[in-house]
Amino acid sequence: MNAPLPPEVLKQHLIDPEICIRCNTCEETCPVDAITHDGTNYVVDPAICNGCMACVPPCPTGSIDNWRLVLKAEPYTLDEQFGWDELPGEKALPDSASTEVAGDVIPPSADEAGVDTSTAVEIDTGTPIAPAISVAGATIPPWSAAHPYVNLYAHKTPVTATVVGNYRVTDDDTDSDIHHIVLDFGNAPFPVLEGQSIGILAPGTDANGRPHHARQYSLASPRDGERPGYNNLSLTVKRVTEDHQGQPAKGVCSNYLCDLAKNDTVQVIGPFGNTFLMPNHAGANLMMICTGTGSAPMRAMTERYRRRIARGTNGRLMLFFGARTQRELPYFGPLMKLPRDFIDINLALSRDTEQPRRYVQDLIRERASDVLTLLHDTNTCIYVCGLKGMETGVLDALRDVVVQGGQDWTILHDILRREGRLHFETY
Ligand code: NAP
Repeated sequence: MNAPLPPEVLKQHLIDPEICIRCNTCEETCPVDAITHDGTNYVVDPAICNGCMACVPPCPTGSIDNWRLVLKAEPYTLDEQFGWDELPGEKALPDSASTEVAGDVIPPSADEAGVDTSTAVEIDTGTPIAPAISVAGATIPPWSAAHPYVNLYAHKTPVTATVVGNYRVTDDDTDSDIHHIVLDFGNAPFPVLEGQSIGILAPGTDANGRPHHARQYSLASPRDGERPGYNNLSLTVKRVTEDHQGQPAKGVCSNYLCDLAKNDTVQVIGPFGNTFLMPNHAGANLMMICTGTGSAPMRAMTERYRRRIARGTNGRLMLFFGARTQRELPYFGPLMKLPRDFIDINLALSRDTEQPRRYVQDLIRERASDVLTLLHDTNTCIYVCGLKGMETGVLDALRDVVVQGGQDWTILHDILRREGRLHFETY
Protein backbone atom coordinates (compact mmCIF):
# COMPACT_ATOMS: atom_id res chain seq x y z
CA MET A 1 0.00 0.00 0.00
CA ASN A 2 1.27 3.54 -0.83
CA ALA A 3 2.19 5.84 2.11
CA PRO A 4 -0.08 8.96 2.40
CA LEU A 5 1.29 11.98 0.52
CA PRO A 6 2.79 14.68 2.76
CA PRO A 7 0.58 17.80 3.06
CA GLU A 8 1.46 20.39 0.44
CA VAL A 9 3.05 23.69 1.45
CA LEU A 10 2.11 27.05 -0.06
CA LYS A 11 4.26 30.17 -0.19
CA GLN A 12 1.39 32.55 0.57
CA HIS A 13 1.52 36.11 -0.68
CA LEU A 14 0.56 38.65 2.02
CA ILE A 15 0.56 42.42 2.47
CA ASP A 16 2.10 43.98 5.58
CA PRO A 17 -0.68 46.16 7.12
CA GLU A 18 1.84 48.10 9.20
CA ILE A 19 3.75 49.40 6.18
CA CYS A 20 0.99 49.53 3.55
CA ILE A 21 -0.13 53.08 2.80
CA ARG A 22 -3.37 51.95 1.09
CA CYS A 23 -2.51 53.63 -2.20
CA ASN A 24 -4.35 50.96 -4.25
CA THR A 25 -1.44 50.49 -6.65
CA CYS A 26 -1.28 46.70 -6.07
CA GLU A 27 -5.00 46.21 -6.57
CA GLU A 28 -4.84 48.13 -9.83
CA THR A 29 -1.74 46.31 -11.03
CA CYS A 30 -2.75 42.73 -10.22
CA PRO A 31 -3.51 41.12 -13.60
CA VAL A 32 -5.72 38.40 -12.06
CA ASP A 33 -7.66 40.54 -9.53
CA ALA A 34 -6.30 38.63 -6.53
CA ILE A 35 -5.94 41.79 -4.42
CA THR A 36 -8.85 43.49 -2.72
CA HIS A 37 -9.45 45.76 0.27
CA ASP A 38 -11.95 46.89 2.87
CA GLY A 39 -11.85 50.10 4.90
CA THR A 40 -8.89 48.76 6.85
CA ASN A 41 -6.55 46.42 4.96
CA TYR A 42 -5.39 45.35 1.52
CA VAL A 43 -5.40 41.56 1.21
CA VAL A 44 -4.42 38.84 -1.27
CA ASP A 45 -6.79 36.00 -2.14
CA PRO A 46 -4.74 32.78 -1.93
CA ALA A 47 -7.20 31.04 -4.23
CA ILE A 48 -6.46 33.50 -7.05
CA CYS A 49 -2.87 34.76 -6.60
CA ASN A 50 -0.49 33.01 -9.01
CA GLY A 51 2.68 34.68 -7.73
CA CYS A 52 3.29 36.52 -11.00
CA MET A 53 5.01 39.38 -9.09
CA ALA A 54 3.47 42.08 -11.30
CA CYS A 55 2.35 43.97 -8.17
CA VAL A 56 5.75 44.02 -6.46
CA PRO A 57 7.81 46.62 -8.36
CA PRO A 58 5.10 49.32 -8.43
CA CYS A 59 4.42 49.16 -4.65
CA PRO A 60 5.90 52.35 -3.21
CA THR A 61 6.57 50.87 0.26
CA GLY A 62 7.54 47.23 -0.26
CA SER A 63 4.63 46.17 1.98
CA ILE A 64 3.43 43.95 -0.87
CA ASP A 65 6.55 41.78 -0.84
CA ASN A 66 5.71 39.45 2.06
CA TRP A 67 5.44 35.69 1.93
CA ARG A 68 4.65 32.98 4.51
CA LEU A 69 4.95 29.22 4.23
CA VAL A 70 1.59 27.66 5.17
CA LEU A 71 -0.16 24.39 4.53
CA LYS A 72 -1.82 24.67 1.14
CA ALA A 73 -5.07 23.42 2.64
CA GLU A 74 -4.95 26.04 5.43
CA PRO A 75 -3.88 29.41 4.00
CA TYR A 76 -4.64 32.63 5.85
CA THR A 77 -8.18 33.51 4.82
CA LEU A 78 -9.31 36.90 3.55
CA ASP A 79 -11.23 37.45 6.81
CA GLU A 80 -8.10 36.77 8.84
CA GLN A 81 -6.08 39.19 6.69
CA PHE A 82 -8.77 41.90 6.98
CA GLY A 83 -8.49 41.65 10.78
CA TRP A 84 -4.70 42.01 11.05
CA ASP A 85 -2.92 44.96 12.62
CA GLU A 86 0.39 43.30 11.83
CA LEU A 87 1.64 40.30 9.88
CA PRO A 88 1.77 37.00 11.76
CA GLY A 89 5.16 35.33 12.20
CA GLU A 90 6.09 32.14 10.36
CA LYS A 91 3.81 29.22 11.29
CA ALA A 92 5.40 25.99 12.46
CA LEU A 93 4.58 23.39 9.83
CA PRO A 94 4.02 19.73 10.71
CA ASP A 95 7.11 17.53 10.25
CA SER A 96 5.17 15.53 7.71
CA ALA A 97 4.69 18.59 5.47
CA SER A 98 6.20 18.39 2.01
CA THR A 99 9.56 20.06 1.63
CA GLU A 100 8.41 21.07 -1.84
CA VAL A 101 6.51 24.35 -2.03
CA ALA A 102 3.43 24.14 -4.21
CA GLY A 103 4.77 24.95 -7.67
CA ASP A 104 1.82 26.97 -8.88
CA VAL A 105 2.46 29.79 -6.45
CA ILE A 106 6.24 30.07 -6.39
CA PRO A 107 7.08 33.48 -7.83
CA PRO A 108 8.81 32.72 -11.13
CA SER A 109 12.30 34.01 -11.74
CA ALA A 110 12.53 36.73 -14.34
CA ASP A 111 14.05 34.23 -16.78
CA GLU A 112 11.22 31.77 -16.26
CA ALA A 113 8.69 34.55 -16.69
CA GLY A 114 10.36 35.52 -19.96
CA VAL A 115 10.86 39.08 -18.78
CA ASP A 116 13.65 41.31 -20.02
CA THR A 117 15.85 42.03 -16.98
CA SER A 118 18.15 44.43 -18.73
CA THR A 119 16.38 47.27 -17.01
CA ALA A 120 15.70 45.54 -13.68
CA VAL A 121 15.87 47.72 -10.59
CA GLU A 122 16.80 47.02 -7.00
CA ILE A 123 13.87 47.62 -4.71
CA ASP A 124 14.28 48.11 -1.01
CA THR A 125 14.10 44.38 -0.26
CA GLY A 126 17.40 44.13 -2.08
CA THR A 127 15.90 41.71 -4.57
CA PRO A 128 16.42 42.44 -8.23
CA ILE A 129 12.95 42.61 -9.70
CA ALA A 130 12.14 42.70 -13.36
CA PRO A 131 9.70 45.38 -14.47
CA ALA A 132 6.09 44.28 -14.72
CA ILE A 133 4.94 44.50 -18.29
CA SER A 134 1.19 44.51 -17.82
CA VAL A 135 0.67 48.06 -16.56
CA ALA A 136 0.19 51.24 -18.60
CA GLY A 137 3.21 52.98 -17.14
CA ALA A 138 6.81 52.08 -16.38
CA THR A 139 7.79 50.27 -13.19
CA ILE A 140 11.36 51.50 -13.31
CA PRO A 141 12.64 55.08 -13.08
CA PRO A 142 14.36 56.88 -15.95
CA TRP A 143 17.96 55.67 -16.33
CA SER A 144 19.46 58.91 -15.02
CA ALA A 145 17.20 59.37 -11.99
CA ALA A 146 18.95 59.96 -8.68
CA HIS A 147 18.81 57.20 -6.07
CA PRO A 148 15.70 57.59 -3.88
CA TYR A 149 15.58 56.84 -0.17
CA VAL A 150 12.39 55.05 0.87
CA ASN A 151 10.78 53.88 4.12
CA LEU A 152 13.12 55.78 6.43
CA TYR A 153 10.22 56.28 8.83
CA ALA A 154 7.44 53.72 9.34
CA HIS A 155 4.12 53.66 11.22
CA LYS A 156 5.85 52.66 14.47
CA THR A 157 8.71 55.10 14.02
CA PRO A 158 7.25 58.27 12.44
CA VAL A 159 9.18 61.50 12.34
CA THR A 160 7.76 64.74 13.69
CA ALA A 161 7.58 67.68 11.29
CA THR A 162 6.59 71.24 12.13
CA VAL A 163 4.19 73.30 10.04
CA VAL A 164 5.98 76.41 8.84
CA GLY A 165 3.40 77.49 6.27
CA ASN A 166 -0.20 76.73 5.32
CA TYR A 167 -2.08 78.83 2.82
CA ARG A 168 -4.79 78.49 0.23
CA VAL A 169 -3.77 78.38 -3.44
CA THR A 170 -7.22 78.58 -5.05
CA ASP A 171 -9.47 81.62 -5.17
CA ASP A 172 -11.57 82.18 -2.04
CA ASP A 173 -14.79 82.33 -4.05
CA THR A 174 -14.46 78.71 -5.25
CA ASP A 175 -15.53 75.48 -3.53
CA SER A 176 -12.12 74.01 -4.23
CA ASP A 177 -10.13 74.61 -1.03
CA ILE A 178 -6.58 73.61 -1.95
CA HIS A 179 -3.74 74.32 0.46
CA HIS A 180 0.00 74.64 0.07
CA ILE A 181 1.47 73.25 3.28
CA VAL A 182 5.14 73.51 4.21
CA LEU A 183 6.60 71.03 6.72
CA ASP A 184 10.00 71.43 8.34
CA PHE A 185 11.94 68.41 9.61
CA GLY A 186 14.44 70.30 11.77
CA ASN A 187 17.47 68.10 12.36
CA ALA A 188 15.79 64.83 11.32
CA PRO A 189 17.17 63.48 8.05
CA PHE A 190 14.43 63.41 5.42
CA PRO A 191 16.04 63.15 1.96
CA VAL A 192 13.53 63.31 -0.89
CA LEU A 193 13.32 63.52 -4.66
CA GLU A 194 10.71 65.14 -6.89
CA GLY A 195 7.93 62.62 -7.63
CA GLN A 196 8.20 60.93 -4.24
CA SER A 197 5.45 61.05 -1.63
CA ILE A 198 5.12 60.97 2.13
CA GLY A 199 2.51 59.52 4.48
CA ILE A 200 0.70 61.62 7.07
CA LEU A 201 -0.66 60.02 10.24
CA ALA A 202 -3.75 61.99 11.25
CA PRO A 203 -4.38 61.86 15.00
CA GLY A 204 -7.35 59.94 16.40
CA THR A 205 -8.98 56.67 15.49
CA ASP A 206 -11.35 55.35 12.86
CA ALA A 207 -14.86 53.93 13.39
CA ASN A 208 -13.31 50.65 14.60
CA GLY A 209 -11.16 52.38 17.19
CA ARG A 210 -7.95 51.82 15.24
CA PRO A 211 -5.46 54.59 14.49
CA HIS A 212 -6.13 56.13 11.08
CA HIS A 213 -3.97 54.60 8.39
CA ALA A 214 -1.49 56.90 6.70
CA ARG A 215 -2.63 59.11 3.82
CA GLN A 216 -0.21 59.62 0.96
CA TYR A 217 0.66 63.03 -0.54
CA SER A 218 3.10 63.85 -3.31
CA LEU A 219 5.83 66.36 -2.72
CA ALA A 220 5.20 69.72 -4.33
CA SER A 221 8.74 70.95 -3.72
CA PRO A 222 12.09 69.95 -5.20
CA ARG A 223 14.77 67.89 -3.50
CA ASP A 224 16.59 70.86 -1.98
CA GLY A 225 13.49 72.02 -0.13
CA GLU A 226 10.56 74.36 -0.56
CA ARG A 227 13.02 76.92 0.66
CA PRO A 228 16.35 75.98 -0.90
CA GLY A 229 18.84 74.72 1.62
CA TYR A 230 16.27 74.18 4.37
CA ASN A 231 15.18 70.75 5.57
CA ASN A 232 11.60 71.31 4.50
CA LEU A 233 9.12 70.23 1.85
CA SER A 234 5.67 71.21 0.66
CA LEU A 235 2.41 69.39 -0.11
CA THR A 236 -0.65 70.30 -2.15
CA VAL A 237 -3.76 69.20 -0.28
CA LYS A 238 -7.40 69.56 -1.33
CA ARG A 239 -9.95 69.65 1.48
CA VAL A 240 -12.27 66.70 0.87
CA THR A 241 -15.87 67.56 1.68
CA GLU A 242 -17.73 64.95 -0.35
CA ASP A 243 -17.30 61.34 -1.40
CA HIS A 244 -16.99 60.02 -4.95
CA GLN A 245 -20.80 59.96 -5.24
CA GLY A 246 -21.02 63.64 -4.31
CA GLN A 247 -22.46 62.95 -0.84
CA PRO A 248 -21.16 65.10 2.06
CA ALA A 249 -18.12 63.42 3.64
CA LYS A 250 -15.31 64.96 5.67
CA GLY A 251 -11.91 63.68 4.59
CA VAL A 252 -10.00 62.76 7.73
CA CYS A 253 -6.49 63.71 6.76
CA SER A 254 -7.15 66.47 4.23
CA ASN A 255 -9.25 68.42 6.75
CA TYR A 256 -6.66 67.79 9.47
CA LEU A 257 -3.90 69.14 7.22
CA CYS A 258 -5.82 72.09 5.80
CA ASP A 259 -6.72 73.20 9.36
CA LEU A 260 -3.15 73.05 10.71
CA ALA A 261 -1.66 76.26 12.05
CA LYS A 262 1.93 77.42 11.95
CA ASN A 263 4.09 75.61 14.57
CA ASP A 264 1.67 72.67 14.84
CA THR A 265 3.44 69.32 14.59
CA VAL A 266 2.61 66.42 12.27
CA GLN A 267 3.58 62.73 12.30
CA VAL A 268 5.14 61.73 8.99
CA ILE A 269 6.25 58.42 7.46
CA GLY A 270 8.15 57.71 4.29
CA PRO A 271 9.50 58.84 1.93
CA PHE A 272 7.90 56.57 -0.66
CA GLY A 273 8.29 55.97 -4.35
CA ASN A 274 11.17 54.69 -6.45
CA THR A 275 9.90 54.97 -10.02
CA PHE A 276 7.97 58.23 -10.57
CA LEU A 277 11.26 60.11 -10.56
CA MET A 278 12.66 62.75 -12.87
CA PRO A 279 15.65 62.23 -15.16
CA ASN A 280 18.89 63.80 -14.07
CA HIS A 281 20.83 64.11 -17.30
CA ALA A 282 21.43 67.27 -19.29
CA GLY A 283 18.92 67.89 -22.05
CA ALA A 284 16.16 65.70 -20.58
CA ASN A 285 12.67 66.88 -21.62
CA LEU A 286 9.66 66.64 -19.33
CA MET A 287 6.11 66.24 -20.61
CA MET A 288 3.86 66.75 -17.59
CA ILE A 289 0.13 65.97 -17.71
CA CYS A 290 -1.95 66.60 -14.59
CA THR A 291 -5.33 67.50 -13.14
CA GLY A 292 -6.06 69.43 -9.93
CA THR A 293 -3.81 68.49 -7.02
CA GLY A 294 -2.07 66.01 -9.30
CA SER A 295 -0.02 69.10 -10.13
CA ALA A 296 2.04 68.61 -6.94
CA PRO A 297 4.86 66.52 -8.48
CA MET A 298 4.80 68.70 -11.61
CA ARG A 299 5.41 71.77 -9.45
CA ALA A 300 8.33 69.96 -7.78
CA MET A 301 9.91 69.00 -11.11
CA THR A 302 9.29 72.40 -12.68
CA GLU A 303 10.84 74.15 -9.69
CA ARG A 304 13.87 71.83 -9.88
CA TYR A 305 14.36 72.90 -13.49
CA ARG A 306 13.63 76.56 -12.75
CA ARG A 307 16.40 76.67 -10.15
CA ARG A 308 18.78 75.30 -12.78
CA ILE A 309 17.93 77.66 -15.66
CA ALA A 310 21.27 79.46 -15.39
CA ARG A 311 23.18 76.20 -15.96
CA GLY A 312 21.69 75.89 -19.43
CA THR A 313 21.32 72.11 -19.12
CA ASN A 314 17.53 71.90 -19.13
CA GLY A 315 15.65 70.19 -21.92
CA ARG A 316 12.12 71.24 -22.89
CA LEU A 317 9.21 71.42 -20.45
CA MET A 318 5.68 70.91 -21.72
CA LEU A 319 2.78 71.05 -19.26
CA PHE A 320 -0.86 70.01 -19.76
CA PHE A 321 -2.82 71.08 -16.69
CA GLY A 322 -6.54 70.45 -16.18
CA ALA A 323 -8.83 72.24 -13.72
CA ARG A 324 -12.48 73.28 -13.64
CA THR A 325 -11.72 76.98 -13.86
CA GLN A 326 -8.69 79.19 -13.71
CA ARG A 327 -9.65 80.21 -10.17
CA GLU A 328 -9.61 76.55 -9.07
CA LEU A 329 -6.25 75.86 -10.63
CA PRO A 330 -3.70 75.56 -7.83
CA TYR A 331 -0.67 77.88 -8.14
CA PHE A 332 -2.20 79.67 -11.14
CA GLY A 333 -0.51 83.01 -10.37
CA PRO A 334 3.08 81.72 -9.92
CA LEU A 335 2.67 79.31 -12.85
CA MET A 336 1.73 82.08 -15.27
CA LYS A 337 4.76 84.14 -14.19
CA LEU A 338 7.18 81.46 -15.46
CA PRO A 339 9.02 82.51 -18.64
CA ARG A 340 7.35 81.22 -21.81
CA ASP A 341 10.67 80.05 -23.21
CA PHE A 342 11.19 77.96 -20.06
CA ILE A 343 7.90 76.06 -20.00
CA ASP A 344 5.18 75.45 -22.58
CA ILE A 345 1.93 75.73 -20.56
CA ASN A 346 -1.38 74.32 -21.82
CA LEU A 347 -4.39 74.84 -19.53
CA ALA A 348 -7.49 72.68 -19.99
CA LEU A 349 -10.44 74.32 -18.25
CA SER A 350 -13.51 72.13 -18.02
CA ARG A 351 -16.07 74.54 -16.53
CA ASP A 352 -15.08 77.92 -17.83
CA THR A 353 -18.21 79.86 -18.73
CA GLU A 354 -16.51 81.48 -21.73
CA GLN A 355 -15.04 78.36 -23.37
CA PRO A 356 -16.22 74.88 -24.31
CA ARG A 357 -15.25 72.10 -21.87
CA ARG A 358 -11.70 70.92 -22.42
CA TYR A 359 -9.72 68.12 -20.82
CA VAL A 360 -5.96 67.65 -20.94
CA GLN A 361 -6.34 64.95 -23.59
CA ASP A 362 -8.06 67.48 -25.90
CA LEU A 363 -5.05 69.76 -25.67
CA ILE A 364 -2.63 66.89 -26.28
CA ARG A 365 -4.45 66.31 -29.59
CA GLU A 366 -4.45 70.04 -30.40
CA ARG A 367 -0.69 70.16 -29.88
CA ALA A 368 -0.09 66.93 -31.79
CA SER A 369 2.89 68.10 -33.78
CA ASP A 370 4.89 69.32 -30.73
CA VAL A 371 3.82 66.31 -28.67
CA LEU A 372 5.03 64.00 -31.44
CA THR A 373 8.39 65.76 -31.61
CA LEU A 374 8.87 65.29 -27.88
CA LEU A 375 7.69 61.68 -27.96
CA HIS A 376 10.30 60.85 -30.57
CA ASP A 377 13.12 62.34 -28.54
CA THR A 378 14.67 59.62 -26.36
CA ASN A 379 15.46 62.32 -23.79
CA THR A 380 11.74 62.80 -23.08
CA CYS A 381 10.05 61.46 -19.94
CA ILE A 382 6.27 61.68 -19.52
CA TYR A 383 4.48 62.06 -16.19
CA VAL A 384 0.72 61.75 -15.66
CA CYS A 385 -0.76 62.58 -12.26
CA GLY A 386 -4.26 63.27 -11.00
CA LEU A 387 -7.69 61.76 -11.44
CA LYS A 388 -7.88 58.08 -12.24
CA GLY A 389 -10.30 58.79 -15.07
CA MET A 390 -7.72 60.75 -17.05
CA GLU A 391 -5.43 57.75 -17.49
CA THR A 392 -7.33 56.12 -20.34
CA GLY A 393 -8.08 59.47 -21.95
CA VAL A 394 -4.41 60.48 -21.94
CA LEU A 395 -3.25 57.13 -23.30
CA ASP A 396 -5.85 57.36 -26.09
CA ALA A 397 -4.73 60.88 -26.95
CA LEU A 398 -1.05 59.89 -27.07
CA ARG A 399 -1.94 56.92 -29.24
CA ASP A 400 -3.96 59.12 -31.64
CA VAL A 401 -1.10 61.59 -31.96
CA VAL A 402 1.39 58.83 -32.73
CA VAL A 403 -0.88 56.95 -35.14
CA GLN A 404 -1.75 60.15 -37.01
CA GLY A 405 1.98 60.73 -37.32
CA GLY A 406 2.19 57.40 -39.11
CA GLN A 407 3.90 55.58 -36.25
CA ASP A 408 3.08 52.44 -34.28
CA TRP A 409 1.85 53.35 -30.80
CA THR A 410 2.12 49.80 -29.43
CA ILE A 411 5.84 49.71 -30.12
CA LEU A 412 6.49 53.23 -28.79
CA HIS A 413 4.34 52.62 -25.69
CA ASP A 414 6.34 49.50 -24.90
CA ILE A 415 9.64 51.36 -25.33
CA LEU A 416 8.46 54.20 -23.08
CA ARG A 417 7.55 51.69 -20.36
CA ARG A 418 10.67 49.60 -20.66
CA GLU A 419 12.90 52.68 -20.57
CA GLY A 420 11.16 54.15 -17.52
CA ARG A 421 9.95 57.14 -19.54
CA LEU A 422 6.16 56.98 -19.01
CA HIS A 423 4.83 57.26 -15.49
CA PHE A 424 1.35 57.37 -13.98
CA GLU A 425 0.24 58.36 -10.51
CA THR A 426 -3.52 58.53 -10.54
CA TYR A 427 -6.14 58.02 -7.82
P1 NAP B 1 -10.67 67.93 -9.91
O1 NAP B 1 -10.69 69.34 -9.48
O2 NAP B 1 -11.80 67.04 -9.52
O3 NAP B 1 -10.48 67.78 -11.47
C1 NAP B 1 -9.51 68.49 -12.17
C2 NAP B 1 -9.91 68.55 -13.61
O4 NAP B 1 -9.90 67.24 -14.22
C3 NAP B 1 -11.33 69.08 -13.80
O5 NAP B 1 -11.27 70.02 -14.82
C4 NAP B 1 -12.09 67.85 -14.21
O6 NAP B 1 -13.21 68.17 -15.03
C5 NAP B 1 -11.06 67.13 -15.02
N1 NAP B 1 -11.42 65.72 -15.29
C6 NAP B 1 -12.41 64.98 -14.77
N2 NAP B 1 -12.45 63.76 -15.32
C7 NAP B 1 -11.45 63.74 -16.25
C8 NAP B 1 -11.00 62.77 -17.18
N3 NAP B 1 -11.55 61.57 -17.28
N4 NAP B 1 -9.95 63.09 -17.97
C9 NAP B 1 -9.36 64.29 -17.88
N5 NAP B 1 -9.77 65.26 -17.06
C10 NAP B 1 -10.80 64.98 -16.22
O7 NAP B 1 -9.30 67.34 -9.40
P2 NAP B 1 -8.85 67.12 -7.90
O8 NAP B 1 -10.04 67.01 -7.01
O9 NAP B 1 -7.82 68.14 -7.55
O10 NAP B 1 -8.22 65.69 -7.99
C11 NAP B 1 -6.92 65.47 -8.34
C12 NAP B 1 -6.57 64.00 -8.20
O11 NAP B 1 -5.15 63.92 -8.04
C13 NAP B 1 -7.19 63.32 -7.00
O12 NAP B 1 -7.70 62.08 -7.42
C14 NAP B 1 -5.99 63.11 -6.08
O13 NAP B 1 -6.12 61.97 -5.28
C15 NAP B 1 -4.88 62.96 -7.08
N6 NAP B 1 -3.52 63.18 -6.59
C16 NAP B 1 -3.25 64.08 -5.63
C17 NAP B 1 -1.95 64.21 -5.17
C18 NAP B 1 -1.58 65.11 -4.04
O14 NAP B 1 -0.43 65.05 -3.61
N7 NAP B 1 -2.45 65.93 -3.53
C19 NAP B 1 -0.94 63.45 -5.75
C20 NAP B 1 -1.25 62.57 -6.75
C21 NAP B 1 -2.55 62.45 -7.19
P3 NAP B 1 -14.74 68.09 -14.59
O15 NAP B 1 -14.79 67.88 -13.09
O16 NAP B 1 -15.33 69.38 -15.01
O17 NAP B 1 -15.31 66.94 -15.34
